[in-house]
Amino acid sequence: MASHAELSPSKAHRWMVCPGSVAACRDIPEPPPGAAAQLGTATHALAEWCLREERVPEERRGEYIKNPDGSQFLCDQKMIDAVKGYLETVYALRSKHDAPVLFVEQRVRPYEAVDSEVYGTADALIVDTLGDMVDVVDLKNGASPVEVEDNHQLMIYGLGGLIEAPHASEVRLTVYQPHARDVGSVGPVRQVSYKAEDLRAWRNEKLTPAIQATKDPDAPRVTGKHCQYCPAFNVCPAHMASVTAVLREPKPLPGVDADALPAPENLTATQLGALLSVLPRFEAWSRAVRDFAKARILAGQDVPGWKVGDGRRTYSWENEDEAEATLKSLFPADWVFERKLTTPAKIRARMKASPADVRDRVEELIRCDRSQTVVPDFTPTGESAIDVFKEPEI
Ligand code: SF4
Repeated sequence: MASHAELSPSKAHRWMVCPGSVAACRDIPEPPPGAAAQLGTATHALAEWCLREERVPEERRGEYIKNPDGSQFLCDQKMIDAVKGYLETVYALRSKHDAPVLFVEQRVRPYEAVDSEVYGTADALIVDTLGDMVDVVDLKNGASPVEVEDNHQLMIYGLGGLIEAPHASEVRLTVYQPHARDVGSVGPVRQVSYKAEDLRAWRNEKLTPAIQATKDPDAPRVTGKHCQYCPAFNVCPAHMASVTAVLREPKPLPGVDADALPAPENLTATQLGALLSVLPRFEAWSRAVRDFAKARILAGQDVPGWKVGDGRRTYSWENEDEAEATLKSLFPADWVFERKLTTPAKIRARMKASPADVRDRVEELIRCDRSQTVVPDFTPTGESAIDVFKEPEI
């Protein structure tokens, strides 16, 4: 039987499209979570505590939220605001039910069978013992907008809700993403509803065949934006062929070797658009090449012409409490502590409840410089080429 990691709902966007990825990734360790994913884990832990204990995030202000992997993150105003918005979303949805039951961090599966090899954990699941609606709420802490339409992870969670409430006729899927950038008026809450019969039809016609396809030892490898965080991407011939193929499409570039990198001004508009959408995969691949080479050299193996050198040094206190006590006993206070002017971002967060004239006075002090960058053209219709899985989400 496949493991949870192989067929998890959060990776369904990959294995449902590329059935060969399951076998391709089987012996490749998942890279350790980055800081963004770790922060997401801490934020989820705070949210879970609030929902289970019926508490508010402000009670944990200033505390470090510890993750199972040892990383820890300060419960600051930004984390508090994120969790508060999520709680408000969950409670507002719960209030629409007649007899709601709220499940927090609930393990769900899309099939009746308790040994379903596809299962995951829904952040919040609301079923109604009297009503027809099931609600699934997913907290996303990343900045890349997560599309709610046709989101396989959420659809699997929705099917899990229907296992808990088989009498329901509708499933509402909600993403709460407080830090989503460039979503304009769409805002942090995105929602879609499915009829229960449509979700079950999707399971029978799409999900079940996709699971079966992963069992085939010759399952094809199908490339796309889902390759970006595939652990096999830097050893996958299909992925690399697709990346270089972009330079040949829609027709070969005149006078340009497809294996050389053409100057941007030689690219057509279509090629520019296509390249921008695969650029994160180039970048991720180059990082993986560098990391792999470093690991190889550190393991004592040769990479001709390269060695591992010292990087920039950073210093930090082993134990901040102990350092503070010792430093205070040795030095004057102004050596130990620094008074620094707070940042505009912090003061704006703190003064939310201040009178309007106070806020106006402070706003006049703030200068806003904004750089411009190329971003996906996000539209609520889901027609954009936005990379919905650009950052691993928790
Ligand atoms: S890199 Fe892409 S094509 Fe290759 S196995 Fe992974 S998802 Fe499939």
